[in-house]
Amino acid sequence: MRRLDRSKRLVVKIGSALLVNPDGQLNRPWLESLIHDLAQLKAAGVETLIVSSGAIALGRRTLGLPKRPLKLAESQAAAAVGQIALARAYQQILAEHGYVAAQILLTLKDTEERRRYLNARSTVGTLLKQGAVPVINENDTVATTEIRYGDNDRLAARVSSMMSADCLVLLSDVDGLYTAAPGAGADARLVAEVHEITPEIMAMAGKPVSGVGSGGMITKIEAARIAVGAGAHMVIASGRHLNPLRRIDAGAPCTWFLSSASPVASRKRWIAGALEPAGRLIVDQGAVNALLDGRSLLPAGVKRVDGSFARGDTVSICALSGVEIARGLVAYDRDEAERIAGARSHEIEQRLGWRGRDEMVHRDDLVIIGSLHHEAG
Ligand code: GLU
Repeated sequence: MRRLDRSKRLVVKIGSALLVNPDGQLNRPWLESLIHDLAQLKAAGVETLIVSSGAIALGRRTLGLPKRPLKLAESQAAAAVGQIALARAYQQILAEHGYVAAQILLTLKDTEERRRYLNARSTVGTLLKQGAVPVINENDTVATTEIRYGDNDRLAARVSSMMSADCLVLLSDVDGLYTAAPGAGADARLVAEVHEITPEIMAMAGKPVSGVGSGGMITKIEAARIAVGAGAHMVIASGRHLNPLRRIDAGAPCTWFLSSASPVASRKRWIAGALEPAGRLIVDQGAVNALLDGRSLLPAGVKRVDGSFARGDTVSICALSGVEIARGLVAYDRDEAERIAGARSHEIEQRLGWRGRDEMVHRDDLVIIGSLHHEAG
């Protein structure tokens, strides 16, 4: 049996229908039971992140907008009101367990544009390192139709991929994926494990059904594609009962989408393969040795900079002989990289005029060429 308490980094997505009662009030006892489970996972050493919906559902009544459907500007206004209440509830309940809540509001570009992606990744990474619980939602008040994730299933999958999580839980009002859409027939069975997202699996998803949230089974399967592709297992489980995470570990019915690779291997494969390098960093032998030892590339070891690239682009890291040693996501634009090439960490600020990052390419963002077959799996 698969268990959440075996994961290292877990993302839990909570749908509006679970968190907010039909009268627009927060379902506090339920949230308390969820945070109780989460605290136990944290005590077992699991890093946890929450992606929570509910801002619009909580805010609309307060703002006098109970009737649906809302216009875009109305849901954005409702989210502005509801997000405060949502954040306050998480802050209070997490504090009862001795944990610090950290609110993160993301827009699509934060995970799609690599320049911003590196920022979001390192901020959330710092919060996790400090033991805080990131509570993430879409920045609904500013996102317009074209630039929205639109549903938090997909947002949670992007977060899971961005943070190299190894497990994503989508808590919803259904137990999981059924062989036929709900209501389609009495012989619909729950699918316990999905190893590959085939057209048959897509066909099982049917149409969106949930009343309060915006995602249906289709968006959950799309989320699975993203999360599994990034090396995480994903589970769809019902959140209709108290202690929904404990229930999963106790064997409640649910659907697991299984990934065959680890997050680190998937990310490295993505860095190595998917992107054409936009430039080259020529580095000295000391830097080559450091890279082969698994360390980051520091500006001090960079001898020359070629090509035209922006922060977040892929660059090829080459030895003085020209041989490519590694590829990675560079933390500086080309002209900045040139200015700090050869500089010690304490000299970066002086050369740039602002306090940049110590690493030119962080070790989490790079892959040694030829190493992938050792790290897969
Ligand atoms: N971001 C929206 C909210 O907090 C929810 C989106 C969704 O339901 O997936 O209200």
